[in-house]
Amino acid sequence: SEESMSVYTLPDLPYDYGQLEPHLIGKIVELHHDKHHAAYVSGANTTLEKLHDARTKEDFGTINQLEKSLAFHISGHKLHSILWTNMSPDGGGEPTGAVKSQIETDFGGFAAMQKQFNAATTGVQGSGWGVLSWEPVGSKLIVQQVYDHQGEHAQGAVPIMVCDIWEHAFYLQYENRKAEWVAAFWKLINWDDVNRRLTEARK
Ligand code: FE
Repeated sequence: SEESMSVYTLPDLPYDYGQLEPHLIGKIVELHHDKHHAAYVSGANTTLEKLHDARTKEDFGTINQLEKSLAFHISGHKLHSILWTNMSPDGGGEPTGAVKSQIETDFGGFAAMQKQFNAATTGVQGSGWGVLSWEPVGSKLIVQQVYDHQGEHAQGAVPIMVCDIWEHAFYLQYENRKAEWVAAFWKLINWDDVNRRLTEARK
């Protein structure tokens, strides 16, 4: 049946492992994409299969764990898919185009948004993400502090720029220095991709 097929697939990286150096070492990119992201993809597919089995058997004894697992793995897959295209060997600098003007409207300027984003991202207690999202009801950009991959996410907000602050994202290079990893993220940010995502989200 359709439900037994692999729904989610691991996207290829848009660059080679080592191309984000020196800001992010190739070993991190390799492990992060090939092992961690891959595990979220397979976790999402496996959870869908388990839910199919549960419906077939009409056995919902593990439904709470399965529903949490579904949100965790699908969200992990989506956020990592955004992260890879958000970064570029040619990234960095100030925002451009539509995202520049939307940040000015909603935050009063890039510096103010960046300070909130840095504080929210480095402030995550445990594992999570700093996220810039388009919030369609208020028609504005918001900075979110997301726990794990799904906690404290405003429903319906569309992530357009994401910084992974799980230890697997930076520890091999930056150890406990989270702020150095976030500073490196700004050196890699691909504003063209953020602009493309904002345009899509506003449609
Ligand atoms: Fe990650």
